[in-house]
Amino acid sequence: MKIPFVSFLPMERELEHEIRCAFERVFAGSWYIGGSEDKDFEKAFAEYCGVRYCVGVGNGLDALMLILKAEDIGEGDEVIVPSDTYIATALAVSYVGAKPVFAEPCLSTFNIDPGNIEAKITGNTKAIMPVHLYGQTCDMDPVMKIAGEYGLKVIEDCAQAHGASYKGRKAGTFGDAAGFSFYPGKNLGALGDAGAVITNSREIAEKVRALGNYGSDRKYHHILKGNNSRLDEMQAAFLAAKLPHLDRMNADRRRIADRYLNGIRNPKVILPAVPGENVPVWHVFGVRCDERDALEKHLNNAGIGTNKHYPIPIHLQDCYKDLGYKEGDFPVAEKISRTELSIPIYYGMTDEEVQYVIDTVNAF
Ligand SMILES: *Cc1c(COP(=O)(O)O)cnc(C)c1O
Repeated sequence: MKIPFVSFLPMERELEHEIRCAFERVFAGSWYIGGSEDKDFEKAFAEYCGVRYCVGVGNGLDALMLILKAEDIGEGDEVIVPSDTYIATALAVSYVGAKPVFAEPCLSTFNIDPGNIEAKITGNTKAIMPVHLYGQTCDMDPVMKIAGEYGLKVIEDCAQAHGASYKGRKAGTFGDAAGFSFYPGKNLGALGDAGAVITNSREIAEKVRALGNYGSDRKYHHILKGNNSRLDEMQAAFLAAKLPHLDRMNADRRRIADRYLNGIRNPKVILPAVPGENVPVWHVFGVRCDERDALEKHLNNAGIGTNKHYPIPIHLQDCYKDLGYKEGDFPVAEKISRTELSIPIYYGMTDEEVQYVIDTVNAF
């Protein structure tokens, strides 16, 4: 049996008609930027998340960067980010001129460990950026408590957590604002690059919108030195077509994850922990194994696609040499980078395919 790490085919087969209708509608209207498709999607996504405002932007990195800019975070400021995340989280901080300060994650959930945040706070700390990694919401109560005590902003990176919840509340609704990516492979994916900011703050929403549109609040009036990062009409129409299916498609990922959690029984393979207050959306299903590379080879030889999230921790990336970190500085992130292996999880995987992955992992 051949099982790719990810396949869009089952989803695309089902949604083809709706996607084509969305294309036809936008094409027939000949209006591609800043129109009703963007407005309609923003309204629908804000409603879905349970917040007042949504602003469509160009991608997930821009969403985070524009929030930081809207919060006036920049030169001389520090932002606490997890040591184990996709590099975009840290790059957003660097792009506004601030310094990313890393806090270690929990080995069992891969998410930032609230117990490691306080020691990282200095007089220059302005914000905490929790990342709801792999589709599980971070332990937000203690994160919010620390932020409240120290007067820090909380900016949630929701790029992997569309629709995930914690204590009945959706990821992205805990902090001051949240950034989403609609990169094609995310749980809600466009057919190209796209992103959004959600917030309950009118001020942040208006600032983000202006910043992503050349700092303009009205045509040819520029109140801020902005850039160009907008959600175009075509992508907004595709996203609006897919949004009504998101909960069902996330539930399908949970079906697969539950089978993995119940079926994988191999003392060499450690399954991810799911805290009781979480309903994850399983953007990624990551296991840990001391013999990770051998497990990967074993699965690949059996026709099963795999991935690693993430093989080189951010503090050891060439681009962050200037921060002066060395191996051993973030042992939890380093351990994850050496032992994490992601196995296939995508909408429409059949029970037979899931069972084949389980059997193959168990045979290792
Ligand atoms: C995908 C991702 C981003 C960046 O999103 P883009 O749309 O690719 O810019 C940011 N943070 C995390 C955790 C991601 O997974």
